[in-house]
Amino acid sequence: MVSDALKSIFGIVKLMGFAAFLLGGGNQSAARADLDRSAVRKEAGRKKCERSDPDQLCLALKYSVYKNRAGQPVVSMAEAIENVREIDRVWSQCKVEFEIESFDPVDPIRDELNFRPSDTGELDVIRRRLEDPDHLLLVTTGTWNRAGSLGGSGANAWTAMPGENLYGAILEKPVGRFGNIIAHELGHYLNLDHVNDAQSLMNPIIYDHSTYLSPFQCQSARWAIRNYWQKMVRN
Ligand SMILES: [Zn+2]
Repeated sequence: MVSDALKSIFGIVKLMGFAAFLLGGGNQSAARADLDRSAVRKEAGRKKCERSDPDQLCLALKYSVYKNRAGQPVVSMAEAIENVREIDRVWSQCKVEFEIESFDPVDPIRDELNFRPSDTGELDVIRRRLEDPDHLLLVTTGTWNRAGSLGGSGANAWTAMPGENLYGAILEKPVGRFGNIIAHELGHYLNLDHVNDAQSLMNPIIYDHSTYLSPFQCQSARWAIRNYWQKMVRN
């Protein structure tokens, strides 16, 4: 069992936006273009988003990972691909899958970000810095510094719900290899709320067996894809 990965509720998203403004608003420039699809595809060994099943929805991910002082990403490309394999196993219930189109190692010093974020407002700064209008954004930072406002809850990840100006799922390194947690965060990304059912992917606490998505949840998530994330659909 690992700590809950909480969705960010609307009030907190607003608070985070405000805090980000106090921090200086960050760099509004578009995401950097160091995309390397061919390398990711070579590593993954297939082109997932080119299937012919018309019911299958394949979403393009920008998978950003912080680099430590030694220049090593906190999650390697191979690990990220393995994570997405686990995520796809869970989301196959809904005929939804994900492809890493962009694996993006981030130098937090160069980007004026803290390797170990401490405040919730920093998460929106990260979103502004890394967002990309054509990809869902998934970010793994260093381990959070719990001395700040991020220490106020046990959450290891925060995801903006659809409808907000900013978007992106941000998680800390200790849960960077937990496919179920990332799959849960992507559930919030697709507008799913928590349910109290330990078997469910959207249970507030994620166990190894917390993987079930109901037909209604699948229907809701697919609706959210069509209404919020159509630009990220590749098939
Ligand atoms: Zn959650």
